Amino acid sequence: MQKKIYERVPVANPEVPERIGRLNELAYNLYWAWNPEAINLYRKLNKTLWEYVQHNPIIMLQEVSQETLKEASEDLEYLKHYDSTMADFDAYMNDTNTWFNQNYPNHSDKSIAYLSFEFGLHESIPAYAGGLGILAGDHLKESSDMGLPLNAIGFIYNQGYFVQKISEDGWQETSNFYLDFHKLPIIPLYYEDGKKVLVSVTLPGREIYAQVWKMQVGRVSLYLLDTTIPENSSYDQQLTAKLYTADLETRISQEILLGIGGVRTMRLLGIDPAVWHMNEGHAAFLSLERCNEMVAAGKTFEEAAAIVRKSDVFTTHTPVPAGNDKFPVWLIEKYFAPMWQKLGLTRDQFIDLAKENTEWGEQFTMPILALKLSEHNNGVSALHGAVSRKMWHFLWPERSVDEVPITSITNGVHSFSWLSRRMGLVFDEYLGTDWRTNPDDPKNWEKVDTIPDFVLWDVRRHQKRMLNNYITRAARKAWLTGSVHPVQIIAGGVMLEPDALTIGFARRFPTYKRGYLILRDYERLIRILNDIDRPVQIIFSGKAHPADEPGKLIVQQLYRAIKDHRTGGRMVFLEDYNMDIARHLVQSVDVWMNTPRRPNEASGTSGMKAAMNGALNFSVLDGWWAEGYNGMNGWAIGTEDEYESNEAQDDADALSLYETLENEIVPKYYYRKDPAEPSTEWMKMMKNAIKTLSPMFSTRRMVSEYVRKLYVPAIQND
Ligand SMILES: *Cc1c(COP(=O)(O)O)cnc(C)c1O
Repeated sequence: MQKKIYERVPVANPEVPERIGRLNELAYNLYWAWNPEAINLYRKLNKTLWEYVQHNPIIMLQEVSQETLKEASEDLEYLKHYDSTMADFDAYMNDTNTWFNQNYPNHSDKSIAYLSFEFGLHESIPAYAGGLGILAGDHLKESSDMGLPLNAIGFIYNQGYFVQKISEDGWQETSNFYLDFHKLPIIPLYYEDGKKVLVSVTLPGREIYAQVWKMQVGRVSLYLLDTTIPENSSYDQQLTAKLYTADLETRISQEILLGIGGVRTMRLLGIDPAVWHMNEGHAAFLSLERCNEMVAAGKTFEEAAAIVRKSDVFTTHTPVPAGNDKFPVWLIEKYFAPMWQKLGLTRDQFIDLAKENTEWGEQFTMPILALKLSEHNNGVSALHGAVSRKMWHFLWPERSVDEVPITSITNGVHSFSWLSRRMGLVFDEYLGTDWRTNPDDPKNWEKVDTIPDFVLWDVRRHQKRMLNNYITRAARKAWLTGSVHPVQIIAGGVMLEPDALTIGFARRFPTYKRGYLILRDYERLIRILNDIDRPVQIIFSGKAHPADEPGKLIVQQLYRAIKDHRTGGRMVFLEDYNMDIARHLVQSVDVWMNTPRRPNEASGTSGMKAAMNGALNFSVLDGWWAEGYNGMNGWAIGTEDEYESNEAQDDADALSLYETLENEIVPKYYYRKDPAEPSTEWMKMMKNAIKTLSPMFSTRRMVSEYVRKLYVPAIQND
């Protein structure tokens, strides 16, 4: 029997005057996060406080003075803004003429489940580590915009990922914090009798429980599991404490909770998904639980697996075998012996579902489990699709490489989350507003060429000043703590010039992204940075995984160069990379640089965010850039050749990097007399970049491909 479930949307501040009382409600729907007018409703109350509360509307309503709220509720200007924003919000939430309903009216009663370890929705919700999470967040926002019947499952980590600080010597230090769930836009779910909705899974020797919270992302619901409840031992309460712990037992338990607990959560909620989408292999245990349900109802494992395969969707993000999520077989034996018996399988048959022979012996590899139990699989760029088909060919030895059932859907970014407000207004003026309804239609972008250079340039200069202000504020805040060395303030960017050519390099710091490449010929770099007439500055930001020693060494290498007086304060490191820093950088830097070791960057998305804001990409032809680059919308680093060694590849790519910077990028940028006057050649490239890349790498294009290529075929199997 399905028990009815109730949600109790908390009230951030009961004292908000009734006339503007819906500020409480809007704070619990992330719709605000990608609608500048909605953000402004909170920000306008008190701009300083808005920065102080790190853009969290719930804390904002709790902290803002009663007097300010009262004034706002009587201010005609504010009320006009409030009423029109609320009307837009209502129109959005109640719209039934959505993209999905227009295109697939017969499927509007179906449901798609989307499971992911991380979701990057906003900087105030630290449930992400990097690109994978941001992609999942953007996928939800776009699904909401398009009206997809999608429900997502993930975790709310009460300690998030981690906070990064860089010591004076450049060493990454990590610290943790505890989130106060009353300050997050999460809604508890209850039964009629007032009991919390809990989902349970079995771990060796015990049952563990997770409370189910709901986060409303526009029209899409994201259900978040949380084990920090008294029903669990203190050990099990730690399960959803942190993202990506290195401890294998925690990891496998988390994946059991996500996959198996995810299926059970849908059942508790009375949702019967026709499609189950696994964002990366972390969620792959869901297939086993689905088989389990059918075997319990009388099917054989093979019959059940055949059904599961037809409705599972799997997205792989990992182009290197070593990067794949895997467990030693002994651990699988410890956690899954009861399950294989229930499935009617022997130990060996069960292990075979995901067996990989590696140099460390037999492993149980999650992407293999996902691939073996799903018919609808994809890599996240054309190149990554090809690399994946080759990498997993051994699972289909009877087929040719081209027939390996892994297609590709290149990633995209949610335009409205990443585009600066001002740039959006310029587009409205010169392109018409159709780009907002169909951001993936190249026709809507053709008129970018009609935007006068000085209009675009003014926005760009404004954004750069905003970045400079942001950096200065952060540096002052750090200095005021009294616990940082003066050189760290310089490293934090106080010597940046707003009108100098500025390059951004921000992302996680695994070794394959080669954050060190720019340092390869240090003397040459110093000459480039310090050219008196044509200075160059580089802003770095990003976290290394706490267990990744080589990654932390790269950060340190960079930091030492940044501190070196010879780099003139023109290299900068912004601590604790997050979505807020990312937004500031992609909306303002002139050039977005990326130096992955080809073909290790499955897609990359930060360059897409930068491109639609008018930055020019300067990257290795890997992942998305191998598709996006057309010779006139940015620059390539290196070639598409393969190299005999990493050293040779680094040498060739570094050489190409310096040459392009010296001979192309710097002269083109500085071909102008006055900072207020843009370089015509630069503007031509910028327009080409916005025009060609914005539609192609929007999540609108991406999600519609997921629907067409994977979701609808899976639904039709239902
Ligand atoms: C977009 C984004 C990423 C992904 O960056 P890549 O360059 O694609 O690796 C990582 N972290 C944050 C905070 C982002 O906004």
